[in-house]
Amino acid sequence: MKLYSALFPSLSNPGVLLLVFGLASASSALANPWSKVAGPGIGPPQAMGQYTAGCLQGALPLPAKGTGYQVMRLRRQRYYAHPHLIAFLQELGQQAVARDLGVLLVGDLAQPRGGPMPSGHRSHQTGLDADIWFANLATVTRKNPPSSPLEPVSMLSGAEDRTLDPTLWSPSHVELLKTAAGFDEVARIFVHPLIKKELCAKVGEERGWLAKIRPWWGHDAHFHVRLRCPAQDRLCVDQEPLPPGDGCAEDLAWWFSEEAAQQTAGQPSPPPPLPSACAKVLQE
Ligand SMILES: [Zn+2]
Repeated sequence: MKLYSALFPSLSNPGVLLLVFGLASASSALANPWSKVAGPGIGPPQAMGQYTAGCLQGALPLPAKGTGYQVMRLRRQRYYAHPHLIAFLQELGQQAVARDLGVLLVGDLAQPRGGPMPSGHRSHQTGLDADIWFANLATVTRKNPPSSPLEPVSMLSGAEDRTLDPTLWSPSHVELLKTAAGFDEVARIFVHPLIKKELCAKVGEERGWLAKIRPWWGHDAHFHVRLRCPAQDRLCVDQEPLPPGDGCAEDLAWWFSEEAAQQTAGQPSPPPPLPSACAKVLQE
């Protein structure tokens, strides 16, 4: 009991705990009820809570294939999202085709009702986060779609992955990031610090979009698009606004500091509580 309260502090009413225990397998004390639900929560689409502590009602599945995109690792069932994110990905796929940027390899979105995932991510809980793999755009094209199984390709090389791999990183990747950042509904795009550094060095005059490109641990084999909270989703909590500037000065330098080297994204801290409304989303 104590363990579940710690993992899901907002799920403290007895009915929900009953559900939690009903869904959890006896052999796995850490079983996560959000990863067990079969389909989306009933009701109008609504993202609730924070990206790292929230849930999603009225999700839609992203169809496995569409113009300019393909969903990877279907068996994980992490292809559900807020309808705004589904529409964004479909539109980005169309634009990728129009600009000859290859096929979008869409990784994890969210579970059918969002919520914490048992592995892999701390965010992706409100249906507004999407991972898109960095493919080798020289080989993954519309005429030559990816064969399965496929793994995400790291764009780093060199001793201890200290540089971008010039045989993989391409102008098409830059164009794809710029295209994605150009959507008003996109709040942030997370990439590896070396990718941000490369963009800061190489992008010319028209660089306002760089503000949305944020360095973060990992993200060398995929980029992570985060949409703003839809205006009508009143329980959805946006991240703090972007700091001024293009993010190419001290804030980028920090990522290459001793201090940054000592830290990793994997350092676990207790997750914040989910909004109480998420208990209902899980039940219905
Ligand atoms: Zn992600």
